[in-house]
Amino acid sequence: MKLNLPSPLEQLNSPFMDNHKVELWVKRDDLIHPEISGNKWRKLKYNIQQAREQKEPTLLTFGGAYSNHIAATAAACSAAGIKSIGIIRGEKNKVLNATLSLAMEHGMKIHYVNREDYRQKEEAGFIEKLHKLYGQFYLVPEGGANYKGVLGCAEIVEENSNDFDIVTTACGTGTTLTGLLLSSHKNQKVMGFPALKGGEFIASNARQLLDASNKVETEKEKILGRLELQTDYHFGGYGKVKSELVDFVNRFYVEYNLALDLVYTGKMFFGLFDLIKQGYFKPGTKIMALHTGGLQGNQGMKDRLGIKLNF
Ligand SMILES: *Cc1c(COP(=O)(O)O)cnc(C)c1O
Repeated sequence: MKLNLPSPLEQLNSPFMDNHKVELWVKRDDLIHPEISGNKWRKLKYNIQQAREQKEPTLLTFGGAYSNHIAATAAACSAAGIKSIGIIRGEKNKVLNATLSLAMEHGMKIHYVNREDYRQKEEAGFIEKLHKLYGQFYLVPEGGANYKGVLGCAEIVEENSNDFDIVTTACGTGTTLTGLLLSSHKNQKVMGFPALKGGEFIASNARQLLDASNKVETEKEKILGRLELQTDYHFGGYGKVKSELVDFVNRFYVEYNLALDLVYTGKMFFGLFDLIKQGYFKPGTKIMALHTGGLQGNQGMKDRLGIKLNF
């Protein structure tokens, strides 16, 4: 499998940045692989390695019908020669969407469960039933949200010389954020932009994920002290969009020639630009924003909501 690593780090230059005297660099994890985009590859890396070491022929995971994680898992497993099973939230649609049809092309077996059952996905009884159906498998939680996922994401900032004051990422489960925190320096801030409403829960997720490390309590506290959440840029909740966001993403593409997704990175850059505009960062601040990828999700937005993007 050909991977574009270390992923490129590019500066965004514009009068806007000059006027506000901040340096903004984008870590292009969206360019790692055309199908296994961004942070999903980071989170799968050590999980797939572990599955191989355990000689598990099959990897099973969970996600929504438009999930970047499902798309990435299918492609990564097929490249690694591992069978994959995707447990998909919701009923089967008459027409297969682009995400799931691509996943199936990569050999992923798709298993639909209703929303109620899906909520039990972490319970032993539910997983037992899946074992009865599918036999042995290596389980990866929804979104790749485990400590192996964190370790993969900890490598993101270590790939480049890292003298940033602030590192930012969009958050779903907070796994990527926790990886960035784990490898952050004591003078850095790691800023998370939750794509969900009520994003404060990301802080407790980060704490739980860090509990799986062998760090002592005081060290974990220090690490969590570098976390800052910006919870006001969810645009109504997960997968919700407003025309203000769509306009921003379209303008962003024209100005910077950089495509964003509407679920995660669009919201993060919107928030980040809003903060820059407000003078939130002191002059001379060097920011690294992680482009976590996720562009495959835009197709679902266009198909379902008739949203028009200029890329
Ligand atoms: C999944 C995803 C995220 C969220 O990552 P977490 O580690 O779950 O917080 C962010 N951006 C994109 C593009 C994603 O696909």
